[in-house]
Amino acid sequence: MSDAPQALESYLSGAWRRGEGVETELVDPVHGTVLATASARGLDLKAALDHARNKGGPALRALTFAERAKLLGAIADVLVANRAKYEAIAIANSGNTRIDAAIDIDGGIGTLKYYARLGAPLGDATFLLDDKPVRLAKAENFQAIHLLAPRHGVAVHINAFNFPSWGLWEKAAVALLAGVPVLAKPASSTAMLTHEMVRDVIAANVVPEGALSLLCGGAGDLLDKVTGEDVIAFTGSSETAGRILRHPNILARGVHVNIEADSVNAALLSPGASDGAFDAFIKEVGREMTVKAGQKCTAIRRVFAPAERADAVAEALLARLKKTTLGDPRNESVRMGPVVTRAQQAAAFDGIGKIAKEAEILTGGASAPAIDGIDPSKSAFVAPTLMRVADGTSANAVHDTEVFGPAATIIPYKTEAEAFALVARGGGSLVASVYGDDRSFFARAVAALGASHGRLLMVEPSIADAHTGHGIVMPQCHHGGPGRAGNGEELGGLHGLRLYHQRLAVQGSTDLLTELQAKAYALH
Ligand code: NAP
Repeated sequence: MSDAPQALESYLSGAWRRGEGVETELVDPVHGTVLATASARGLDLKAALDHARNKGGPALRALTFAERAKLLGAIADVLVANRAKYEAIAIANSGNTRIDAAIDIDGGIGTLKYYARLGAPLGDATFLLDDKPVRLAKAENFQAIHLLAPRHGVAVHINAFNFPSWGLWEKAAVALLAGVPVLAKPASSTAMLTHEMVRDVIAANVVPEGALSLLCGGAGDLLDKVTGEDVIAFTGSSETAGRILRHPNILARGVHVNIEADSVNAALLSPGASDGAFDAFIKEVGREMTVKAGQKCTAIRRVFAPAERADAVAEALLARLKKTTLGDPRNESVRMGPVVTRAQQAAAFDGIGKIAKEAEILTGGASAPAIDGIDPSKSAFVAPTLMRVADGTSANAVHDTEVFGPAATIIPYKTEAEAFALVARGGGSLVASVYGDDRSFFARAVAALGASHGRLLMVEPSIADAHTGHGIVMPQCHHGGPGRAGNGEELGGLHGLRLYHQRLAVQGSTDLLTELQAKAYALH
């Protein structure tokens, strides 16, 4: 990388275009150096959407599912070939360690490969068939089937800063397989990685023109220009989600919107858990607090422990967090880097301050940690911060506040019923994990917590080393949570394709429907 800040361009209407001036400076959060700038000012977003809709859409729909699956494989190959430079960008622009970078980069590539494999057997189908045919009248020759037809608009993907690679590809893989062109808008502060990846994919000429567009910079008048044919898949804060959902054009045109928002996720140590389950719990909470400096929407924020074991949990977590070396992630011995910007650092300190009004800070806190060779006035570090409330029932902030950084709070509980009720006070979450040995407790936890979560991870000692992690989103599984988590639904294998399809009933003669079914892939 050269020393001069790179002006990131957008790929719109079939060409790389630069917005006017500078909207955002992209900064190295370790040293405060400006690495790049982004601006979308003056770019014609209506023309860009029309181009994707009129060129990319028909080109993708002309391909079979198997051909689109191949295209995903080709994208993944381009990214694998360029992986080394992506890691360097993630370290510089996001403050990632190499492990953090791998979760983002390889998570994106892995999701593309997964959907390439999943799409191949769909073969020549051009529709998806949902459910079995149903008879509607006495006449045997009149029936209905339910089809999923790919939407004719654009998949507008507005992404969060914490996953510039995974966030891009977990959405794009599904939309492209569905036959819907993508316009991706990464969060400005970490857009360098998304920009580089899209540049490589466009240069490699592996997707049809108009199938993949990129908007680097602010959203501008994007929301004014979408139509009822388009789908918006948004990932980010509940505040921005609310602005999108209440936007007059989105309301007037009934634009389909999927929201993946924030979440105050929980980990729950069951009553009477064995040492093996206890160790698995501590390991996972420690990992979730520090990986990506806690900047995962799925990260554990609330740590529930039986009251009599809360001291032991605090002690074990403190011992683990002590080993987390903070610093410049370019240094191999460093285990945790900064958060992505000083604004995120300030937001994390603000959240810690709110929770700390009702909690004791056991380690860390709401001020910049002293780190050798790092200037606290330029960097964006937050120390691993463990807090503890005395009474989870009377405390409020801990259940409402998502500190988007390396912070979590221990909440002691007295009874199983109290534990389940307190977990649900997150108001709808992406994921909760439960640690124990008693299968009947797990079953009761699924019944009690299921309705307020998008995913539950049940860890008994036999899978302590085998499970994929509380915070890791697997493309095979549903992603999205109810309530404050946004009510979104992404991934989950072929189920994820639904977002980009219109479900419709086709009523007609059994003979016609049989012919149509031959062109469709049956989901069940
Ligand atoms: P954010 O501030 O809400 O921004 C998200 C995206 O929205 C960015 O691309 C941003 O663009 C864009 N945006 C901002 N204002 C907009 C507007 N008026 N119209 C259209 N787009 C607009 O969120 P963030 O700070 O990047 O992300 C952190 C949050 O995301 C956390 O709360 C986290 O929990 C959540 N998150 C959720 C998931 C999930 O899957 N549920 C995954 C990751 C993160 P600019 O950057 O250009 O402003």
